[in-house]
Amino acid sequence: MPGGVSSPVRAYKPYPFFTASAKGSRIYDIDGKEYIDYCLAYGPLVLGHRNEAVKEAVSEQLERGWLYGTPHEKEIELAKKIVNHYPSIEMVRFVNTGSEATMAGIRLARGFKERDKIVKIEGGFHGAHDSVLVKAGSGATTYGIPDSKGVPRDSVINTLQVPFNDAEALNNTLERNSGEVAAVIIEPVMGNVGPIPPGDGYLHEVRKITSENDVLLIFDEVITGFRLALGGAQEFYDVDADLTILGKIVGGGFPIGVFGGRKEIMELVAPSGGVYQAGTFSGNPVSITAGLKTIEIIEREQVPERINKAGERMQTALSEILRDSGVEGCVSGVGSMFKVFFSPSGKEVRNYADALSCDKNKYLRFFHSMLSTGIFLPPSQFETNFISFAHTDDDIERTIEAYKGNLEQVAWKQD
Ligand SMILES: *Cc1c(COP(=O)(O)O)cnc(C)c1O
Repeated sequence: MPGGVSSPVRAYKPYPFFTASAKGSRIYDIDGKEYIDYCLAYGPLVLGHRNEAVKEAVSEQLERGWLYGTPHEKEIELAKKIVNHYPSIEMVRFVNTGSEATMAGIRLARGFKERDKIVKIEGGFHGAHDSVLVKAGSGATTYGIPDSKGVPRDSVINTLQVPFNDAEALNNTLERNSGEVAAVIIEPVMGNVGPIPPGDGYLHEVRKITSENDVLLIFDEVITGFRLALGGAQEFYDVDADLTILGKIVGGGFPIGVFGGRKEIMELVAPSGGVYQAGTFSGNPVSITAGLKTIEIIEREQVPERINKAGERMQTALSEILRDSGVEGCVSGVGSMFKVFFSPSGKEVRNYADALSCDKNKYLRFFHSMLSTGIFLPPSQFETNFISFAHTDDDIERTIEAYKGNLEQVAWKQD
């Protein structure tokens, strides 16, 4: 396995721990060490590991089969839940991953508008497929530059980029490419360069600018969906998208992706329309069952409100600790998503360029010292920490203490 892993973010020096099991807020390695987990498989585990009710629902489903290759009733139930919570969604298609969903969503937008260009945000991540694997930081140039070897220039030639939190840059790009852009795809809260919330009014401006320029707005809510609120960032910030991408949480920890939107757009998807999309494992009853049960619990237990509150407590405490420690950095995040950025002079991080200016080596040292005190954070300055419903007040307080001790160490070792 290249790098010894099945996905690149999991690798870190000298080598990652191997997991033996996990339960609730805890993950256990094969040496028997226990960690409080804030990586949480990079987002899906909003209820924590191995939730009992989800496990039971999945076990029951297994008794009736795990793959049919036919429609089944639970697909309808989950579709209804999604449509109920997201007023901008009237129809959905289930797929297997977030990557697949953004790929199909972009194809659909292009098919609907009969235009080839799309605009993405610098540093925005929409999965590992060709048209969105464009080097962030290259600016809203006419031609994108491939980020990965093996991506043909031709497949990113139609991907334009603008910085996050810069409505004017978006407007200028759409005006310059008038009549040629099918859609703007955006994570309403950036989640894959560390969490970066939208500035006041930014998402509303994006909505207005895309409407005025007759361009579809695609919200990639693979992270924010069912996390910030049941209705995702669209409910949290009170703004509607034309197409929405869901994933991660909506499969309850099993592989899933969803794209959905207004009926007039979605009806263009095969077999009712001419935009082709297909998948052997799509809508499989295990992922659908886990997702359904997870959403039921999120609804019943008011999970977003509760984890958001824990996140606020965390952010407030970390800001104070950071200030007292004298370490250069800032706390960024919203709701249950948070991160300490080692930013120069403690400058606020508002976009990709700001995130890139942070000290990633210092972060790695910090990550290792947190790990040795039993706290598992994502092993990159550019990944988000998540809080789950399984994290107790005691977990949060222990984590805050660990930040305090380890940030003091960072300060002590500074230059
Ligand atoms: C994780 C992620 C994806 C990709 O989802 P996969 O299931 O890993 O393919 C897409 N968009 C965003 C915002 C993500 O965080």
